[in-house]
Amino acid sequence: MELHKQQQAFFSTQKTKNLSFRRDALKRLRNAIVEQEDAIAEAIYADLKKPRYESFLGETQFVLGELNAMLKNLEFWARPERVAANLANFPSKNYVYREPYGQVLVIAPWNFPFMLAMTPIIGAIAAGNTVVIKPSELTPNTSGILGNIIEKLFDPEYIAVVQGGVEVSQQLLAQRWDYIFFTGGTQIGKIVYEAAAKYLTPVTLELGGKNPCIVDETANISLAAKRIVWGKALNLGQTCVAPDYLLVHHSIKEKLVQALKDKIIAAYGEIRSQSTDLARIVSDRHHNRLKSLLEDQRILFGGETVDRDRFIDLTLVDEPDLDSPLMQEEIFGPILPIFAYTNESDIAKIIEGYEKPLAAYVFSRRKSFQKEFITRFGFGGGAINDTVIQIADKNLPFGGVGHSGIGAYHGKVSFDLFSHKKAIVKRGSWIDPPIRYAPYTWPKRIAKWIKHLF
Ligand code: NAD
Repeated sequence: MELHKQQQAFFSTQKTKNLSFRRDALKRLRNAIVEQEDAIAEAIYADLKKPRYESFLGETQFVLGELNAMLKNLEFWARPERVAANLANFPSKNYVYREPYGQVLVIAPWNFPFMLAMTPIIGAIAAGNTVVIKPSELTPNTSGILGNIIEKLFDPEYIAVVQGGVEVSQQLLAQRWDYIFFTGGTQIGKIVYEAAAKYLTPVTLELGGKNPCIVDETANISLAAKRIVWGKALNLGQTCVAPDYLLVHHSIKEKLVQALKDKIIAAYGEIRSQSTDLARIVSDRHHNRLKSLLEDQRILFGGETVDRDRFIDLTLVDEPDLDSPLMQEEIFGPILPIFAYTNESDIAKIIEGYEKPLAAYVFSRRKSFQKEFITRFGFGGGAINDTVIQIADKNLPFGGVGHSGIGAYHGKVSFDLFSHKKAIVKRGSWIDPPIRYAPYTWPKRIAKWIKHLF
C-alpha cells in the first residue's frame, strides 16, 4: 500500500519527534474544528439526526477539551521522566523516555463518528506518530467532513483518512502497523486482534458489552430515574457506555418505573417520535435488529417504532427472559429491560452471567453497597449515582476489560498509550564495583546480600 510506505518514510525523517511540529499539528486541528463546529454538527445530524446540542457536548467540545489538555501538557508529558535509581547500579540516574511507536492505524465506529475518530488521533499526534484513520462507512457525512478537515491540514504522509467499509478495513489491517487503535464491537475486535498478532503489533481495543445499572432501595428515585433516562436516551441508546439493563430492588420497582416514565415524558414529550432531542437509529439493519428484540416482550412503556424515520421509542421492558435475544446481546439502542431483585446474590447471578462489561452503575445511598459493587464486579469503569459521565473526565482512563476491551485512553493516559516507555539508566563512570564481574570468586553470601541493593 503506497500510503503506508509514504508514512513509513516520513516517520523515519524524525520530523514527528519534534515537539513544536506536534504542537503545530494539534493547534491547526483545533482551529479547524472551532471553525467548522457547526458544519460538523450538521454532518452528524445528517447521519444520525443527532441533536446539535448533543453533538456540541459529546463530539466537538469533547474533542476540543482533549486537544486543549494535550496542548497544555505536551512538553511536561513528553519530557524524560526521572525515576528513583537503586543502589545496585550505583552511581546512576534512571529515566523513562517516551518515544512514538511510529505508524498508527485508528479504526472508528459510527455512534460518535467524530469524537471516536478524533480523540485517539489527538493522543497519537501528541505522542509523535503518523496516523491513518478509517472512519465508519455507516456515517458518510461525518466521515466525509472529517476527511476534508484532515486532507486540508496535513500531508497524507503524516496524517491521512482512508474511507471505506469492511474490505478497506481489512486491507489496512493486512499492513504492518506499529500500533492499532480500534473502537467497535467485540466480534470485530477479535478480528483486529488476530490481524495485529501476525506482526506482534500492540493494540487498544475499545469494545462494548452489557452494562448493568443497579438501583437499590435507598436510592433517590427521582434523581436516579432522571440520570438513567438521560444516559439511555443520549444518541437514542447508541452509546457504548449507556445502561443496558436495570436491576431494581423489588420494593421500589413500581416507583422507579413510574419515575422513568415521568422523566421520559418531561424530557422528550408524549410523542417521542416527534422529538428533535432524540437521535435516530443509524441504519435499517440496526433498526430492524432492535425491532426484533422487542418481539414477544412485555412492554411497560414506549414500544413505538417508525420505519421510514428509523425511530424506536424509549422502551421499558419488564423482566425479559435471560435467554431471549434482548438479553443475549448488547442492545445498543433505546430499549431498557428492567429486573426486580430481592437479595444481592440475585444481582451477582445476572451480572456474572455475562462477560465483563464496559460500564456499570449503581444508585444507592449505602456506602457499603457502593464499595461491594465496585470491588466485586469486573467492568471497564462506571459511576455511583449517575450514568455515562465517567467518560467525560480526562483525568480518568477510559477503556474496557476482558471482552469489553484492552487498554484505555483520554488525557495523559492517551499520550502514554501511544508512547513506548523506554527505560534508560545513565551510569556514572567514576567507580565500578567489581562484584558482578567474573571470575566469580565472591562467596555465595555476597550474591544473596546484593538483593538488598535492588
Ligand atoms: P463495528 O465493530 O461493526 O465497526 C467498527 C469499525 O470496524 C468500522 O470502521 C468498520 O468499518 C470496521 N469493520 C467492521 N467489520 C469489520 C471486519 N470484518 N474487519 C475489519 N474491520 C471491520 O462497530 P460499530 O457497529 O461501528 O459500533 C458499535 C460497537 O462499538 C458496539 O459494540 C459498541 O459497544 C462499540 N463501541 C465501543 C466504544 C468504546 O469506546 N469502547 C465506543 C463506541 C462503540
